[in-house]
Amino acid sequence: MNKQKNDFLELEHTYMQLPNVFFSKQVPSLVPNPKLVIFNDALAETLGINEAAFKSDEGVQVLAGNTLLGPSIAQAYAGHQFGYFTMLGDGRAVLLGEYQAPDGILYDVQLKGSGRTPYSRRGDGKAALGPMLREYIISEGMYGLGIPTTRSLAVVTTGEQIRRETMLEGAILTRLAKSHIRVGTFQYAARYGTLGDLKALADYTVGRHFRETQAIKTNEKEDNPYIDLLRQVISRQAKLISKWQLVGFIHGVMNTDNMTISGETIDYGPCAFMDTYHSKTVFSSIDEAGRYAYGNQPAMAAWNLTRFAEALLPLLHENEEQAVLIAQSELEQFEKLYKTYWQQGICAKLGFQEVTKENMLLVKRLLELMESHEADYTNTFRLLTIGEEKLLDFWQAEEGKAWWEEWQKSLSVQNRTKEDIKKIMMAHNPVVIPRNHQVEAALSDATQAHDLSKLHKLLEVLKNPYDYSKDYGTYISVPKSNGCGYRTFCGT
Ligand code: AMP
Ligand code: MG
Repeated sequence: MNKQKNDFLELEHTYMQLPNVFFSKQVPSLVPNPKLVIFNDALAETLGINEAAFKSDEGVQVLAGNTLLGPSIAQAYAGHQFGYFTMLGDGRAVLLGEYQAPDGILYDVQLKGSGRTPYSRRGDGKAALGPMLREYIISEGMYGLGIPTTRSLAVVTTGEQIRRETMLEGAILTRLAKSHIRVGTFQYAARYGTLGDLKALADYTVGRHFRETQAIKTNEKEDNPYIDLLRQVISRQAKLISKWQLVGFIHGVMNTDNMTISGETIDYGPCAFMDTYHSKTVFSSIDEAGRYAYGNQPAMAAWNLTRFAEALLPLLHENEEQAVLIAQSELEQFEKLYKTYWQQGICAKLGFQEVTKENMLLVKRLLELMESHEADYTNTFRLLTIGEEKLLDFWQAEEGKAWWEEWQKSLSVQNRTKEDIKKIMMAHNPVVIPRNHQVEAALSDATQAHDLSKLHKLLEVLKNPYDYSKDYGTYISVPKSNGCGYRTFCGT
C-alpha cells in the first residue's frame, strides 16, 4: 500500500486511488517558525501514535507541514452554503494520508490552516490560533460527551502573522477523521464528474464506512448496494443530530460541505452550546435568518440528506422516476428515525424507562417551562438528576412544582429503584459542557498571553462530563448574561 517508513506515522494514500477529479496534489506551504502549542496525548495513546516523536523538533515540523510523510492532497468538493450551491474544496487544508490504527480503522490525517490550494478562492489558506484551539476544545468536548466527531491531535503556531480584522498568530490544527467525505463530495461528483466518478466515490465510501452494506433488491433483476448506502447515511445522521439536540449543541453552519458521510461532527466554526433553553437559539453572526438555529437542526439535516439523495440518484436506479421514488421512500425514514432516537434520549434524561404518550407529555411540558422561565438547559437536567429541585429556575412557579410532582409520580410507578433511575439519568445528563464563557476565557489567555493553564483545566474537566462524583466548581455556573447575546464567528 505504498506506505513510507518513518518515525511518525506510516500513512496510506487510498483516497489518491480515486479518479483524479477528486483531488489535487498539494504540498502545505512552508512556515517560518513552528512551535507546538498543544498535543493530544490521550488520543495518540489510544491510536498507537508515537507522541514522543511528534513532540520532538522534527515532529513539530511534520505537524506544521514543513516535513512531509508522503504525497499530500487537497480534496475537491462542492456544497450548498446557506442554501446556495458553490464549488468548494479544501481551501486551507491538506490531507497527509490515512493512518491505520490498531483497531483496523483508517483515519484521515489532515493539516488545517496549511496554506493556499487550488480551491482557496480568495482566501489565504491560513488559520488563526484562536479558532484552531476552539476546534480543539469543542471537538474533544464532543468526544467526551460520547458524540461522534473528528478529533484534534495537535495545534502548532507557524511563526507567521495572518491578516484578519487584526493581525493574528497563524496556526495549524492536525485533524483526525474517519474520513473527510462529505455530502458535498457527492454533490461535486454528481455535478462535475462522470457516472463512473460518482460510482467510484460511492464504492470507496462503502468500502471505508459501510462494509456491512448489503445489496438491496429493487426489482426482480437488480441488487443495489447504493440504496443501503443512502439508508445507512440517513440513519447515522438521524442518530448524530439527536445527540446534538440532547446536549444542546448548535453547529452553526450545517452547510452540505460540513456534513460527513461517516456520521461524525465536523468543522467547528461558529458552533456553541446553548445555555438558556430556547429552540430559536442561534450564535453564529453570519446566520441572520436563523437557518441553523437549535430547533432547525433536524430539518436542516433532512434538507442536506435530500441533496445527498439527489446526488446519488443515477446510482439508485437507471430509470430516473424510479430513482426518485426510491430516494423519497428512504428520506421519509429520517424524520421517524430522528424522532425515535430523540424521544428515547430525552426519556432517558428524565429517568423514564419507556417512551409513552404520558411521558412525552411530561417532556413537552418541561421544555415549555424551561423556555418560559429561561432555564439553563444543562443545569435543569443536572438538578433533576441530583434531586435539587428547589434550585430549578421554574421551582417558584405553581406549574413548575406541579410538573415536578407529576414527574415524581410517573417515576415511582416504574419497575426501577431510585438508584437505578439516578444512574440512567447521570449517564444521559452531562454535568459539564464546553460553556461559552469558559471556552472564551481559555482562548483569551491562550492567544493573548500564551497561558494555556485554563485551557488544559477545561479539557481535563471535559474528559469526564458525566462524572457526578467530582466538584466542578465554576464549570457548572452560568454566565451572568445567561449566554444570550453570545456571538460566534466563522473560524477563518
Ligand atoms: P468552512 O466555513 O470552514 O466550512 O469553509 C468553507 C469553505 O471555505 C471551504 O472550502 C474552506 O476550505 C474555505 N475556506 C475557509 N477559510 C479559508 C481560508 N482562510 N482560505 C482559503 N479557503 C478557506
Ligand atoms: Mg467546511
